[in-house]
Amino acid sequence: MSSEKSRTTIERVKINEAWCKGCGICVEYCPKKVFEMREGKSAAVRPENCALCGLCQLRCPDFAIELEEKDND
Ligand code: SF4
Ligand code: SF4
Repeated sequence: MSSEKSRTTIERVKINEAWCKGCGICVEYCPKKVFEMREGKSAAVRPENCALCGLCQLRCPDFAIELEEKDND
């Protein structure tokens, strides 16, 4: 079985752009460099790196970050 490959594009972390005010805190705090600023908003450019540590969600003052529950591994 080669089910591993189909999981490489799973989005673990998402920014709710409507709520993000572009403070950049998540970019600074994420230990996995998941975020980058794009046109004044944060974007999860490397969601596959996310370790679901929860730091970004904790630090975002606008509750703009959604994390997936870790359920498969
Ligand atoms: S910490 Fe929250 S408000 Fe600030 S850039 Fe990141 S997602 Fe946007
Ligand atoms: S949960 Fe942790 S690793 Fe994932 S994006 Fe947030 S700070 Fe980065």
